[in-house]
Amino acid sequence: MTSTGDAATDADRVRQRFLLELGTDVVVVDDDVAESYRYDRAGTVRPGRPLAVLRPRNTAEVQSALRVASELGVPVVTRGAGTGLSGGAAAVDGGVTLSTERLRHLEVDTAASVAVVGPGLLNVEVKRAAAAHGLWYPPDPSSFEICSIGGNLATNAGGLCCVKYGVTTDYVLGLEVVLADGRVLHLGGRTVKDVAGYDLKRLFVGSEGTLGVITEATLRLRPPPPPATTVVATFTDVVAAGHAVAAVSTSVRPSALELMDGAAVAAVQRVRPMGFDADVGALLLAQCDAGGDESSVVSAACAAAGASYVAASTDEEEAELLMGARRMAIPCVERLGTVLIEDVGVPLPAIPDLLAAVAGIARRRRTAIPVIGHAGDGNFHPLVTYDPTDPAATSRAEAAFDEVMEAALALGGTVTGEHGVGSLKAHHLRSQLGAEVMEVTRAVKGALDPAGILNPHKWV
Ligand SMILES: Cc1cc2nc3c(=O)[nH]c(=O)nc-3n(C[C@H](O)[C@H](O)[C@H](O)COP(=O)(O)OP(=O)(O)OC[C@H]3O[C@@H](n4cnc5c(N)ncnc54)[C@H](O)[C@@H]3O)c2cc1C
Repeated sequence: MTSTGDAATDADRVRQRFLLELGTDVVVVDDDVAESYRYDRAGTVRPGRPLAVLRPRNTAEVQSALRVASELGVPVVTRGAGTGLSGGAAAVDGGVTLSTERLRHLEVDTAASVAVVGPGLLNVEVKRAAAAHGLWYPPDPSSFEICSIGGNLATNAGGLCCVKYGVTTDYVLGLEVVLADGRVLHLGGRTVKDVAGYDLKRLFVGSEGTLGVITEATLRLRPPPPPATTVVATFTDVVAAGHAVAAVSTSVRPSALELMDGAAVAAVQRVRPMGFDADVGALLLAQCDAGGDESSVVSAACAAAGASYVAASTDEEEAELLMGARRMAIPCVERLGTVLIEDVGVPLPAIPDLLAAVAGIARRRRTAIPVIGHAGDGNFHPLVTYDPTDPAATSRAEAAFDEVMEAALALGGTVTGEHGVGSLKAHHLRSQLGAEVMEVTRAVKGALDPAGILNPHKWV
């Protein structure tokens, strides 16, 4: 913010300017209300205090908000549902938080097989609307019942069925985006194939609120998938489960291939018993919807990798119980302590090496690191868990967090497969991308947001 006097006066002036432009229905200056918009789900990120929360009702109000922010040089943090796990929506001091919760328009065009949606809708609401017309919106982050479509777009969210059906960006045909200076871009539309000009919509997907505010998306829908057979396999050792995943991936493409190690299974079973032995080393869950011998191929690969138990079932209720348990894993592990949530990804053949490296780091750093993951995508969430009241344990956990990302990079992988960089992984992003790519990244940012007001102090 440009300083023209003491801090309190500046803050008041900023609030008054937003109130004048947008009114009391849109601009919330009550500190108690603003408090509930400060955090996302990255519990270890310390957010700042916003001067105001803006709750625009339409694109024109988003434009007005950004024009005022640009004029005053005030940082803007765009916020969907605040379920992000990397601090992307965490508020910044002296800024405003722009919530998309009221941008909730929805139209399903069955003839074109698309949904035109406001970013404030929850993922589950889009799925339900599509299902009401016999269609399917596939991207399914484990948080699908609580996260917004805008947040999914801004992080390019993945999920369980993404291994076969693709991630959020694969379903984006069109976007409406408001730039920092208030201009509106309309990118793409309802046309399935369209290569006119740069694919700017892909630039905004995954840009984590640093390049513009997504105010509408045109999403591709498809017919629902066929019924699936669920394969369950347990292993005494997580690395063996990793070998099974690598083997499965070279022969078939299940519609979900999820892994939980023994510690994650134990954390879930404390909340929802699934009937697995207490000493299980790892659990693999696969869903096979291709028919033919797909589920037998998966079962055989698990057995060959040393599974101690393999079973297949077509019972939908049982499948939902197991997949539901997998989706609960992060909140269940969060009951054990403070969690630094990793989101590393590696090439499929490197999966066993990554799992072995994480186990080694946990041992060396004397830190619990339960592991869950969208294994079929090579995307894992080692959950570095510690007691925050113990300074020695905290510094061991922080070292372990860094080392897991370094291990993924050494295996040719990434520091984030789906959660985004946010504030948590900025330092490691630079290690992954290198100086030249960071320079080009900053040039893109500078071209679209020259004053740097959009989600500043994060990774770009
Ligand atoms: C239990 C649990 C399980 C999860 N499982 C998964 C999973 O399987 N896969 C996965 O990908 N993620 C998962 N997540 C993480 C999270 O739910 C996703 O990142 C989700 O996409 C965030 O959506 P949100 O609406 O909560 O976004 P927020 O947290 O509000 O914001 C996330 C980022 O997007 C930006 N943003 C939000 N809306 C807009 C917009 N309209 N325009 C521009 N920028 C915007 C914000 O500035 C921020 O940088 C999980 C989270 C939890 C708590």
